[in-house]
Amino acid sequence: MSTVSIVRCSDYDRSRVFQSVHEALDAIGGISEYVKRGQKVLLKPNMLSAKAPKRGITTHPVVLEAMVREVQQAGGIVWIGDSPSGALKGVKRCWENTGFLEVAEKTNSKLINFEAEGSRVREKNGRKYHIAKAVLEADVVINLPKFKTHGFTLYTGAIKNLYGTLPGFQKASYHKKLPQPHKFSQVLVDIYSLVKARLHVMDGILGMEGNGPATGDLREVKLLLASKDGVALDAVASAIMGFKTGEVDAVRLAEAEGLGEAKLEQIKIPQGNIADYAIPDFHLPSNRLMKFVPSFLVKWVGRFLWVRPKVDDSKCTGCAICANGCPVSAIEMINKHPVMDYSKCINCLCCNESCPEEAVYQELSWLARRIS
Ligand code: SF4
Ligand code: SF4
Repeated sequence: MSTVSIVRCSDYDRSRVFQSVHEALDAIGGISEYVKRGQKVLLKPNMLSAKAPKRGITTHPVVLEAMVREVQQAGGIVWIGDSPSGALKGVKRCWENTGFLEVAEKTNSKLINFEAEGSRVREKNGRKYHIAKAVLEADVVINLPKFKTHGFTLYTGAIKNLYGTLPGFQKASYHKKLPQPHKFSQVLVDIYSLVKARLHVMDGILGMEGNGPATGDLREVKLLLASKDGVALDAVASAIMGFKTGEVDAVRLAEAEGLGEAKLEQIKIPQGNIADYAIPDFHLPSNRLMKFVPSFLVKWVGRFLWVRPKVDDSKCTGCAICANGCPVSAIEMINKHPVMDYSKCINCLCCNESCPEEAVYQELSWLARRIS
């Protein structure tokens, strides 16, 4: 049986978060269960792109700091790293805007540039993954995902957060090779199994509903979740959102491989039951509806029911980050303006995630607006 600890935390007040993180860890054995003195511990937050904490897109720096302090109290040496969208254009701006740089400076932790420090190859299911060297060299990896929906994979949590352990353009290339969400989710599961994070602590204080992970709607969820089983944590967090068991591909596939527990009745919550935390009116992504359409009708229904990326010209600065990162070259810069070719677009949302100005949003068809 797996255990997922859930603690309520109303906001990002520093002492409240520190106390809540400590309580969440205490219920699963305390930090000393996971970190021993002298170990190199890589903290992997969600640093999706260069966004400020109040946008609710990235792991909040106070949650990161609370975890740094926990690890340091256990005698661990802290590294912090991720490979955000647009990292190749300079990861420093991401560190600054997310507040991670300030956390590293005041706690004397080391920020790791996955792009600059190289990678090592690991194989899984016949695929080669170049995983950041620091991830493989750390004695312990601690995963710090965010509680958010995702318009492509429906949900993003512990399993998907580890996709950021792949530096550089590989991330986009897997979108191109495996454009269907269930096939792409197998890649997420491969990486989850290779990284072997020992502990997962989710920032669910300010979550995101609707069409996440970058331009969804903020939702005060007021929860922190912790588990050594990331599959169980994702099963619980996605159930709190309202997804049905087995609906999130990565969770279902990971359980099928024996990487963790996804059966809710087999997951212990020391503080109560999932029903105590469920959010019945939580908005799920509009693309979810396509999953209920029989395969022979998908093409026909897709003409009326769709969600696609669109650029808000009033916010766009013409930086071309979206065009450079599109895995299928569906974006052409014309007169410093990104123009999307929807016949090529695979709806991976890389442009939505990487745009530093939040100028790429998810446009819904008339039918999607009516029924989502
Ligand atoms: S949409 Fe965003 S990423 Fe693309 S060119 Fe405009 S500002 Fe840059
Ligand atoms: S246009 Fe955006 S959503 Fe479509 S394939 Fe390119 S990056 Fe992905």
